[in-house]
Amino acid sequence: MDEGFWYQETFFCMDCIGDSYLKKQIEESGIEAECWECKHQKLAISCEDLGERLHKVIESHYQLTPEEPEGWELYYAKEHGWDRSGDEANYIVQEIAEVSLEIANELLEYLAEQYDPAGKDALISPSLYGDAHYVSKDQVDDYEYEYRWDNIKISIKEESRFFNHSVKDTLNVFFRNIDQLFTHDDQPIVKTIDADTSFYRARVAHSRDEELEILEKLPAALGAPPSALAKPGRMNAGGISVFYGAMSPETCIAEVRPWVGCSVIVGKFNPVTTLKILDLSLLEKINIEGSLFDSNHIENLARVQFLSKLVREISIPITPGAEDSEYLITQLIAEYLQSELGLDGILFDSVQFKNKTSESESGSDQNLVLFKNSSLLQPYEIPSNIKIDASFSIGDPEDPEPRYSIMEKITSDIDEPYGSIEDFDSPSPTITLNLKSITIHQIQGVSFLSSALPVDRYRYDPKDFVWPAKLDIKL
Ligand SMILES: [Zn+2]
Repeated sequence: MDEGFWYQETFFCMDCIGDSYLKKQIEESGIEAECWECKHQKLAISCEDLGERLHKVIESHYQLTPEEPEGWELYYAKEHGWDRSGDEANYIVQEIAEVSLEIANELLEYLAEQYDPAGKDALISPSLYGDAHYVSKDQVDDYEYEYRWDNIKISIKEESRFFNHSVKDTLNVFFRNIDQLFTHDDQPIVKTIDADTSFYRARVAHSRDEELEILEKLPAALGAPPSALAKPGRMNAGGISVFYGAMSPETCIAEVRPWVGCSVIVGKFNPVTTLKILDLSLLEKINIEGSLFDSNHIENLARVQFLSKLVREISIPITPGAEDSEYLITQLIAEYLQSELGLDGILFDSVQFKNKTSESESGSDQNLVLFKNSSLLQPYEIPSNIKIDASFSIGDPEDPEPRYSIMEKITSDIDEPYGSIEDFDSPSPTITLNLKSITIHQIQGVSFLSSALPVDRYRYDPKDFVWPAKLDIKL
């Protein structure tokens, strides 16, 4: 019988193929035929069709490992022998199509016939299927996303920083269904936080007077600054007020970059309503399941891969002085997440503070940014005849602890019940400051976290087939 003809007559049925995308494809457009493996008459796919699809998947997602030891491995192989790295092609085929060893062998026989080098090529080119080992490529092609990203960066630097449609379209593509994505350990990328979650905000005081002024104006003095005073930052343009906080007091203090001699005032906050927060640090850990035969899944893999690059790009430390132009793109993304996706804020890893102990609560070295409409502080309602006065005392001989106090002094009879007038049009508060949580940190020193790596010096002659010896120089 003719070889080619024989291959075309081999069919595998939808019950003998595990990959769910392929199963569905066979169900929709398969051919009624007798299955080579289970011998049942069923909807099936030909060995040729499946083989060609496999060839495309292997070509784009796997790479051949070296057939011979290379480089330093040569020296090692002489003494200890050598095993080719990667997995055998048969294992790869079983894994991606979810088929039996026998079907994988049948497919490889077809593929070797079609694609393995023959004649004199066989001596110089590696076999792709007959005797091949593969490793999965770590990367998928996300050129399309990179290209769109580069374009919006150019577009916002050269054109208006306000939303133009192409930027919005691009961000729609990047962040599509973001609230339906989960990590490998099942954490949602968009989490909800409520009254049980505490977070912190810090302010630097340059002098005792400033410390006392902040204490007298609580809670507002620790909330997001008034719009008129809002300086541009990583997540807001100038004049747009957002709340920059963190999940631990230590992270807050590191983020305000205090200097020795100043003090930092820290307060604990809680949401008064449920807030939806995008955790940027989880964008690098998104897990999406699907079939390598499905072009939509490949597209999604590329997007997820791009998102993990994006988070690195938007959270890299920015050189002081270069802030304004470098922050443009992150400001734009924040604006989009708030107005288009209805998110309340974002969490991202602090670049100023890294937890030194693994026992610390996970996520405590994260920054929390709450967007403008989600950082409305619950006012402290007091009768209007109360005068607030903060003071500092160095203590007395009986109690030498220095301390800060806030006195609420009743000045006259109450004429109005409350100082703050309820405005029915104003949006309801989203966060509240715990007034009992206030601490003032006197900065006495700043410590740095660094790693020191050694530098080795070698000398070798490539003619000697031995490991180069480390030079032991005495200077
Ligand atoms: Zn079958």
